[in-house]
Amino acid sequence: MRVYNFSPGPSALPLPVLEKAASEMLDANGTGQSVMEMSHRSKDYKPIFEKTESLLRELMGIPANYKVLFLQGGASLQFSMIPLNLAAGDRPGVGLKTAYVDTGIWSDKAIKEGSKYSDVQVLASSKDKAYTYIPDAPAAEPGTAYYHITTNNTIVGTRWTDVPDTGSIPLISDISSCILSEPLDVSKFGVLYAGAQKNLGPAGTTVVIIREDLIGKAPAWTPIMLRYETHSNEGSMYNTPPCYGIYMIGLVLEWIKNLGGVNTIAKLNQEKADLFYNYLDSSKMFNSPVVKQFRSLMNIPFVIKEQDEAKKTELETRFVKEAAAAGLINLAGHRLVGGMRASIYNAMPIEGVKALISFMEKFEG
Ligand SMILES: *Cc1c(COP(=O)(O)O)cnc(C)c1O
Repeated sequence: MRVYNFSPGPSALPLPVLEKAASEMLDANGTGQSVMEMSHRSKDYKPIFEKTESLLRELMGIPANYKVLFLQGGASLQFSMIPLNLAAGDRPGVGLKTAYVDTGIWSDKAIKEGSKYSDVQVLASSKDKAYTYIPDAPAAEPGTAYYHITTNNTIVGTRWTDVPDTGSIPLISDISSCILSEPLDVSKFGVLYAGAQKNLGPAGTTVVIIREDLIGKAPAWTPIMLRYETHSNEGSMYNTPPCYGIYMIGLVLEWIKNLGGVNTIAKLNQEKADLFYNYLDSSKMFNSPVVKQFRSLMNIPFVIKEQDEAKKTELETRFVKEAAAAGLINLAGHRLVGGMRASIYNAMPIEGVKALISFMEKFEG
């Protein structure tokens, strides 16, 4: 029996995608091979790669002056590649001014890595209230190399709804946990990046969407594999790309297209999130700690209202365990924040959210 998987990542994939991959496992497109066995430079693989890129461009409306790169190293490697390519000086430790807004644990990691190669200015932070809101975004100083935000904060469950206007300073966003969940105007950004394992496919591929004029700025000492131009010049095939992951992303994109595209997915996501937040807001036992206006559509943390810490922990542990036994898995909150969290990415059907709510109603007694 398939479970409802509320994991923050790697996370559930759409059933039709898994079925299609299974049907092509031994013989993809009549080639007599699995996609896993194909050379990345072969005529069999080429159309698979091209289809994935062109579907991503179509669904996200990526303008022609942007490159799409399929890399490895996760979103976390982009925390390093971004400052290295866009702000680093002629030796490590000196670099241009960069601006970051600190909205959670992933932003904080990006800031720490950025500080190694650039002169980071943290313009605002919501750490004072356990990251339960998105702070106002002040302007950066003229001459700042880029302005970095994290659109959806996976661990704490907040999201930016309005993108800051940074004028001529390139805006960069980590969209790992919200890519293709709602429409996004790519032309407002210099760089967008996402690890695939939340909303796009299996772990191992990182999608980077970068405006062409931002490529080619890395100082000479930057390792070859960490330079955007290396991958851009070779069409993501400087070395072996994550071939099978790219194929799986292609199947997920096809699934989104068949459903009706990003606008349709966004409506479904809003419906799922509304259902769950409305339940939380009316519940006597459960509560969302996030300020309403900034609530994520993808990751929904919740806690049990109980003053006694020991009793609260005991109840939450029991909740996660009993939910798993009922086929609702991976509901524990992040180890750094505790409580529970339901990640309801594109692939989570509304039936999964309904099943979770009815389990919670019973748990409330
Ligand atoms: C999961 C996640 C990351 C880390 O991704 P990796 O691919 O594991 O490096 C970074 N940022 C956000 C917003 C995430 O959700």
